[in-house]
Amino acid sequence: MKKVNHYKNVDLISGPCSAESREQVMETARQLYDVGVRKFRAGVWKPRTRPGGFEGIGEPALTWLMDVRQEYGMEVGCEVANKDQVELALQYSLDFIWIGARTVADPFAMQEIADTLATADEEQRLTMEVYIKNPVCADYDLWYGAVERIKNARVPDVRLIFRGFKSYYATKYRNEPIWDIALKMMTEHPELKMYCDPSHIAGQRDLVGEVADIAINTYNMQGLMIESHCNPSCALTDAKQQLLPSDIPTLYIEREEVQGEEKGKARQELQKCRVMIDIIDKKIVDCILNRLRYCEAIGDVKAKNGIATYQPNRWKEVLDKIKKELHSQGNANMLKKYPEIDYLIEEIFNKIHSTSITIQRHHSNDRQDSLQ
Ligand code: PEP
Ligand code: MN
Repeated sequence: MKKVNHYKNVDLISGPCSAESREQVMETARQLYDVGVRKFRAGVWKPRTRPGGFEGIGEPALTWLMDVRQEYGMEVGCEVANKDQVELALQYSLDFIWIGARTVADPFAMQEIADTLATADEEQRLTMEVYIKNPVCADYDLWYGAVERIKNARVPDVRLIFRGFKSYYATKYRNEPIWDIALKMMTEHPELKMYCDPSHIAGQRDLVGEVADIAINTYNMQGLMIESHCNPSCALTDAKQQLLPSDIPTLYIEREEVQGEEKGKARQELQKCRVMIDIIDKKIVDCILNRLRYCEAIGDVKAKNGIATYQPNRWKEVLDKIKKELHSQGNANMLKKYPEIDYLIEEIFNKIHSTSITIQRHHSNDRQDSLQ
């Protein structure tokens, strides 16, 4: 089993999906404390997709969070979804709150939460961490819009939690992690700390570790929010994905400080290359469109003169020229190193050619239609 300090540079938040009883909350907190976790989460009000499930204990669970803070000195927090819940979170002086994926998708709810936070006393507003999960749907603007609303309420410590997106189709994970969306946010808003919730992405215990590993070691995220429970299989909500606190040190979520910086530099390097790639991609699109514009003119001439659209000899000639150019002196090294490029170029040009034929045919048909 790996040692606790394997996640020493990762800001870890853990605790049950739902606070179910005082015993469950205290026992889970004790076990988490033993493995080095210092931020304790628990759902107090649970937004359920369908009615009839366990909807959380409500306010009495906040007193259990106070007990955790008192007993273990841990920071404590829960999810809030409306004015009343924010008011209670403020009243109990929670160290952090988070806004869940369903709520973030609703601008009215977000505004109500922001307006309530704006009424908090200065001291609380300045010290409370407010985490904003990504919305259930893959909508970047909706996510950032939620951040703006909270920021407009003069909350200085806004952080983000990436928890993946709902997909109608079956996917490996419960919520598809479209990492590009998190990356765009991290690139455009480096001032916002990005956490990952591998539990709600994975949806099952044995996949939590690999998602946490990607978040920390590939994407260099700031921290993790992991669901844990002292008796996970009996949990009233999300039983399949909660870990035993003692599982947490076995996850590969190590990150040394220096490694983090190196990855930060690597990301900058990547960014430079990606800017160039974006410029080249734009040129490719422009070139393809320009090429296809000539097909209209060619289609016109062929139709007027009764020449068949597809001319195999001409196509062979074109392909030969392209191959010759591809294998010219300057490209030799690249081609030797990656022979599959040959196939790629042929594929691309065959696709361009078949579209070109379709356009020529359309064009000549259009012309014939207009002559009738
Ligand atoms: C949760 O963290 O318990 C939760 C409900 O998560 P989400 O909003 O990501 O579904
Ligand atoms: Mn949950």
